Amino acid sequence: MTKQTVWTLAELDHKGQLDPVSFEMTARAQNLDAEIHVLLFAPTGVSDETLVPLFHHGAHEVLLLENDAFTFFQADVWGRLFADVARKENMNVFLAPADTLGRTLLPYAAMLLHTGLTADCTALSLDSETGLLDQTRPAVGGDIMATIRCEAHRPQMATIRPRSTAVPAPDVTRTGKIRRCHVTLDGKALQTQLLSFTPAPAEIPLAAADKVVVVGRGIKRPENIPAVKEFADSIGAALGATREAVDRNWLPYSCQIGLSGRTIAPKLYIGLGVSGAIQHLIGMRTAETIVAVNKDPDAPIFKVADFGIAGDCMEVLPHLKSLLAKGGVK
Ligand SMILES: Cc1cc2nc3c(=O)[nH]c(=O)nc-3n(C[C@H](O)[C@H](O)[C@H](O)COP(=O)(O)OP(=O)(O)OC[C@H]3O[C@@H](n4cnc5c(N)ncnc54)[C@H](O)[C@@H]3O)c2cc1C
Repeated sequence: MTKQTVWTLAELDHKGQLDPVSFEMTARAQNLDAEIHVLLFAPTGVSDETLVPLFHHGAHEVLLLENDAFTFFQADVWGRLFADVARKENMNVFLAPADTLGRTLLPYAAMLLHTGLTADCTALSLDSETGLLDQTRPAVGGDIMATIRCEAHRPQMATIRPRSTAVPAPDVTRTGKIRRCHVTLDGKALQTQLLSFTPAPAEIPLAAADKVVVVGRGIKRPENIPAVKEFADSIGAALGATREAVDRNWLPYSCQIGLSGRTIAPKLYIGLGVSGAIQHLIGMRTAETIVAVNKDPDAPIFKVADFGIAGDCMEVLPHLKSLLAKGGVK
């Protein structure tokens, strides 16, 4: 039986290298036992060598849409091109990361293609005969898991949260085909010009951090944030927050972890005054080691914690700091 074909979106970082989230998408397609085609928007001149890791991670073919203007993302231009390619290639399934690019490009393209889009999928399965994709994601505030099908329209499109997929070791013997397509854009198509680029401040990026200290409502007052930040810095951790903490403006939305925030999978998660609501757990339960400090011994977070401390988090904090300074965390 011939395999179903699944398309995935790859991304370049601002240095022109493949963003590792590209391999998470091919890993998802590998799990569907599909023939994998990868779509990449790139500035002209990206070398074959740059693309080879996509083959090592399961891709059969890479379709490269090239134009010098593709150094940065433009939703309308990329959306129209994507819709054209989806029609020409007769795409059945398209998977993209639920990051800024995927969350902006796919809704735009779905509208042009009159097809559906399931955002933030946690599980996917593909019927090898019918080519129908079952797309599962949390719904009703995370209380249920809904499985969604897009039976009548194509492509079936889904986004998947970054860092929610285990990437298998690369197979460096694999090769594949690169199709380069130089795109000509008329001047009117480009409505935005890149004038300058300012990288984000050099704070430890939450999504990539190995250690994360999370502020919950239980820290009580915003005046306690500096002490928590100092603690996080002392162990080289990034700061995260629950929605309760973000809604109180204690930390910015970019710190929010959970259903309506980011997904993280650090080696160490330390929750301070976090209750462990399902909507929060969705964004952190794949952390390797979970430490929770909560004054309520029955708080739900203790059900997922590897180490639980029942107590006042601001009182426990100095003890935790000196304990970890003695070499408790590598
Ligand atoms: C659609 C939807 C999406 C949502 N998305 C998110 C999301 O992305 N992320 C998210 O986090 N939430 C999200 N929520 C909200 C979520 O349901 C919870 O309300 C939230 O996670 C609770 O945050 P919290 O643990 O800080 O606060 P609370 O639930 O109020 O818990 C505070 C905890 O602190 C403990 N505590 C109090 N005082 C102390 C102390 N002195 N020392 C130690 N512990 C103390 C308490 O025992 C309690 O367990 C969402 C909700 C909905 C409906």
